[in-house]
Amino acid sequence: MASGEPLHMLDPVNILLVTVLSSIMSLSILGSLRPAGIPGVGRWIGAYVMASVALLLAGLQRLGVPVLTVFVSNTLLALAIVRVFEGCRQFFGLEPRVPLAYAGIVALAMGIAWWYWVTPSLGARVAVVSAFHAAIYTSIGWLALRCRPPGRPVYSYRFVMLAAWLGAFAHALRGAMYGGGFVKQYGLLDFTPLNVAWLALGILVLPSLSIGMVLLAHDRMAERLERLANQDELTGALTRRAFLAQAGALLDAARLEGQRVALAIVDIDHFKSINDRYGHAAGDRVLAQFCRIAMSGVRNSDLFGRLGGEEFGLFFVGVARDDAVRRLDELRVLTLSVRRGADASLHESTQGGHEGLTFSAGVDELQAQDTLATLMARADAALYVAKTRGRDRVVAT
Ligand code: GH3
Ligand code: MG
Ligand code: MG
Repeated sequence: MASGEPLHMLDPVNILLVTVLSSIMSLSILGSLRPAGIPGVGRWIGAYVMASVALLLAGLQRLGVPVLTVFVSNTLLALAIVRVFEGCRQFFGLEPRVPLAYAGIVALAMGIAWWYWVTPSLGARVAVVSAFHAAIYTSIGWLALRCRPPGRPVYSYRFVMLAAWLGAFAHALRGAMYGGGFVKQYGLLDFTPLNVAWLALGILVLPSLSIGMVLLAHDRMAERLERLANQDELTGALTRRAFLAQAGALLDAARLEGQRVALAIVDIDHFKSINDRYGHAAGDRVLAQFCRIAMSGVRNSDLFGRLGGEEFGLFFVGVARDDAVRRLDELRVLTLSVRRGADASLHESTQGGHEGLTFSAGVDELQAQDTLATLMARADAALYVAKTRGRDRVVAT
């Protein structure tokens, strides 16, 4: 830029400074997510601190201190993008550290020094820096594509993938152009169309990636909330709310497809006496153990929910009433192995008894005019009959 010419908005130095500002804003948003304890966020924050410093240093190139503005800035930016990658690995539950990436940073730093001081070559320098960034960005995109937890909405994961692969593409293109000698220029911050185009892409990728990471963190928080709302903490069974909602949806679908539906309500017998004799904590363990057995027996297409206290619902699709009764009887045999005192060996000697856990169940099958509520009411009535007939039995109306 000729001296005296007014500072142009598209001057690469200005673009760099805007990227620094946007990185700092990304930092403030990522920082707000830190207390949620989401894996990887700490590394992402570190990465954006490093990127901000690196870009600031790069923007100061006209100061003429190449150790800082070329060597440190490029090495730090490479370290930052590796930290983003590590944060993503941590987020997806993988071992975060990738030794190969650090070996790559050391090689890169040596390359930058070599092609700056020993055998100066802008083309070679840009080519290795770009190749390194392209490789890491590609890996980040790949992670986002492959590691989405099953059942989660794709949006945030695809967003990260696209932002990372846009970065990979821009770096690969830039590396090829400089490395292949298609570009002849002396300074990376000279005001040329190519530098502006390249920096504009760069300015898009770093903030987009940080938005992507914020979206990932939000998806993780939504997943946690959904699990809290849908999964009973003590037993792992569906909560009452989730059971009713999912059973209602399955019922509608089954009716459309002409499939049979059976529903059972299960209530553990004399549970209050278990609490009274062995304590509430033992009662909790018995509930959890009962649910483990029940859940290992239900198919993926069935639902098992805790309707409240020691009362549970089972929803079977494609199962007739008699078949449901048979399944409940099988479960009844299995739960007999649950000792009523959860610490069995102790109670066998001190209480002298190790009678198995029993439950009563009422079962019925969906009729043409039924809603979920009327079907449940009939199963509940059957459960009442089972209790009055002496418990430890399955009754179908
Ligand atoms: P019945 O055979 O007639 O069903 O007798 P019951 O004692 O099982 O029935 P009742 O409904 O009188 O008692 C249920 C007991 O379950 C009372 C309550 O303290 C206990 N309970 C409910 N939720 C929990 C829980 O989460 N943990 C424990 N330990 N006990 C619970
Ligand atoms: Mg009970
Ligand atoms: Mg009860």
